[in-house]
Amino acid sequence: MNARTILTVVVSLVIAVSWAGAEEIAGLPLHVQKIDDGVLRLWVGDHISSTAITAFATDKGIVVVDTVGVTEIDTGLRRVIARELGRSDFAFLINTHEHPDHTGGNSVYADCTIVGHELVAAGMAVAAGHRDRLLTWQTDRIAEQEAELKTLDGDSPDSAALAEDLALNRLLLGQLETSQESLPPTLTFSDRMTLDLGDTTFDLSYIGGMHTASDIAVFVPEHGLLLTGDTMADVWLTDTPGCLASFMVRDRMAHDFPRWLANWDRLLAERDRITTLLPGHWNGELSIAGAEARVEYVRTLWDGITQAAGEGMTMAEVQTEYRLDVRFPELVDSPGFNPQLNFASITELWREITSQASAARTIYTLLDEGGEDAEIRKVLADRDSESPGYFYSEAEFNAYGYALLQQDKADAAVTMFRINTELFPDSWNVYDSLGEALLRVGDTDAARAMYEKSLTLNPESPTGNEALKTIRDGAAAS
Ligand SMILES: [Zn+2]
Repeated sequence: MNARTILTVVVSLVIAVSWAGAEEIAGLPLHVQKIDDGVLRLWVGDHISSTAITAFATDKGIVVVDTVGVTEIDTGLRRVIARELGRSDFAFLINTHEHPDHTGGNSVYADCTIVGHELVAAGMAVAAGHRDRLLTWQTDRIAEQEAELKTLDGDSPDSAALAEDLALNRLLLGQLETSQESLPPTLTFSDRMTLDLGDTTFDLSYIGGMHTASDIAVFVPEHGLLLTGDTMADVWLTDTPGCLASFMVRDRMAHDFPRWLANWDRLLAERDRITTLLPGHWNGELSIAGAEARVEYVRTLWDGITQAAGEGMTMAEVQTEYRLDVRFPELVDSPGFNPQLNFASITELWREITSQASAARTIYTLLDEGGEDAEIRKVLADRDSESPGYFYSEAEFNAYGYALLQQDKADAAVTMFRINTELFPDSWNVYDSLGEALLRVGDTDAARAMYEKSLTLNPESPTGNEALKTIRDGAAAS
């Protein structure tokens, strides 16, 4: 054994000893952070994007914000909180939003008042309805991860991260299998609520619509803390940001942006009293400047789109005007932003402001569910009505067409792209996309015609020229 090998062995032994000494819950490493006097932040795992819960010692009992969603872990964390604070008078649990990785451990606090937004219960019921699908998904995922783990070097960081994720997924599967009913909040509010616990105040505000319908912010002025759930982060500490991955206006979700903006303005007016912002997962951080930039982003879109719709601008013009790189260059590389999310946010705000639905999404759903041609034609005919109930976005039709192609629904994709050529006959790209789908269904002649049409509109198109060359080479070879 040379000197270097001996050193490696000694170092490994030291690491092993310190790990063996570290506390674990359900086989996962425990982290306890003292944030302030009588305030703890706790989570499990070194790699996974797990929920960070916060516990406050107050005059009127212990207040916990959020749960991890695995009974074994939440029971363990409750025990650690009691031990670290030296008391066990748990009084309140606050849910920052409806997601199972925040509410799934509510039953561990059944003896407490559980506080949350009035929409949390509905969100929890929807999640419970997906239980069977989740069971299958989780079982498959575990099998995939077990197979992948065998291919990795056991000492590598990738292997450690995967092993941890696998351990959590097994716990989540166990949670699903025992089908424990989780408790919805017992004390709810719609806009604002204040919990006065003597020496500590909890100022709760609705900020829903950017992550779930039931997002709230929890401001605790005596400790200078603002807890923002999973709504935003401007630093990711790991490369798998999980729930903090996207800052966007969600579709098919209740939201009220004037109220959202008013509540954020009120919270940010307290900036001098806020020392720390706490996102709902340990691997994200948020600064005041980051929160302000995100609020201003929403305000710019909300005000701008409201005005644009009033002036008769089209959806396509608005998308161009508010492109991320054009209008928000400082957010291009910021956590939670990308051009697709920006596009989706604009689409959803447009829908909210104009009350028009997305024709592309409606037709995509019809195609996906095997809807009749007549139903699709009805959506398209609405375009000529006096006040159309839908908006028609070339980019959206194109994106949904590709989504269908990805799902191996090439016939439906052909229909989707063909509609786009009817709606936007002057765009070279719609023919190019249709050509691609026609190739997939084996209709080479029709595909060739579409690529030729696309090239008459845009002779320089590399995709069109390449595809035509491939088709011609194929024809020459056969
Ligand atoms: Zn969440």
